[in-house]
Amino acid sequence: MIKLHDKYFKPFISEGEILSAIKKVADAIAEDYKGEVPIFVGVLNGSFMFVSDFLKAYQHPCEVSFVKLSSYQGLTSTGIVETLLDVPENIEGRSVIILEDIIDTGRTVKKLIDIFSATNVKEFKIATMFYKSEVYNGEYDIDYFGMKIEDRFIVGYGLDYNELGRNLKEVYQLNQKHMINLVL
Ligand code: 5GP
Repeated sequence: MIKLHDKYFKPFISEGEILSAIKKVADAIAEDYKGEVPIFVGVLNGSFMFVSDFLKAYQHPCEVSFVKLSSYQGLTSTGIVETLLDVPENIEGRSVIILEDIIDTGRTVKKLIDIFSATNVKEFKIATMFYKSEVYNGEYDIDYFGMKIEDRFIVGYGLDYNELGRNLKEVYQLNQKHMINLVL
């Protein structure tokens, strides 16, 4: 169990499980993009660990870029989706694969789709490490995902709780039981 700010988190997904899920995603994308040089666009801040491990698993010609959006404050999605950086410049006519840390309601994905639909990319796809498929209510079918997870708040592997926990190499989930004990 670890404590970040005022909350307790318990181990949820091991580093080994994460890396083997990433390998499957990298292999699937490599198969789909044989003979092409796709541009991977990581969504900061949360995706930095996923992008790094993904690229180590994807040893084929590719380019890498980043965009920065933000939609979360504390434990619940604020609904504010803000574009902080412009789209990469060289994406015209190219296949773009967006690398997301986690897809929850889908608001961020919707924003990314809106942004990339307005460009002249050849095509764009979405790949996410974690996918809360029961919560996702977007129309776009997610192209690649590492792991489906239930609706719970997680930290680690790039994901934070009020900026803490991003550097954890494994994933932890909020310990609801501890929260109930505290309330009783
Ligand atoms: P959405 O726009 O799909 O509702 O949320 C996507 C963003 O919310 C992610 O990029 C991530 O920053 C944040 N997010 C969603 N679920 C979680 C979670 O369980 N833990 C953390 N730390 N962030 C989350």
